[in-house]
Amino acid sequence: MLTHGTILWAVPACVLLPFSGQAWWVVLVGELLLVLLVIFCAMAWTTRPEPARTALTLFNTGKPVMSTVLGGKACDGGGYELALSIRSDALHLKASHRCDHPNCTRTGGRPGSQIPVLVAPDARTWGVLH
Ligand SMILES: [Zn+2]
Repeated sequence: MLTHGTILWAVPACVLLPFSGQAWWVVLVGELLLVLLVIFCAMAWTTRPEPARTALTLFNTGKPVMSTVLGGKACDGGGYELALSIRSDALHLKASHRCDHPNCTRTGGRPGSQIPVLVAPDARTWGVLH
């Protein structure tokens, strides 16, 4: 798997390859491939998926609040799909949460039930705590 750790061996390989005693064209092709690998890994590392950044923002700046279940229905594969009302400071949003965690299924989708959520109002992100 290509990770940012790949850079840790690809960069020294770029430096050492010219001194490996290989033919010049082998060194050239090797250098090109290693440079492309480093660029690819650096791009993959710096453009992490949005959900990962959102989760980091949420964990770093989130504030725990209680959301209110507006309604819900049982899903075919188990669990519930819940409609939630989330309020925190200036943020008020309605959201949908589908899962089979006992904290959520325990509500049975009954309106007025409460579920703890983590809210980052600045980023307008939220996540159910369980
Ligand atoms: Zn849940």
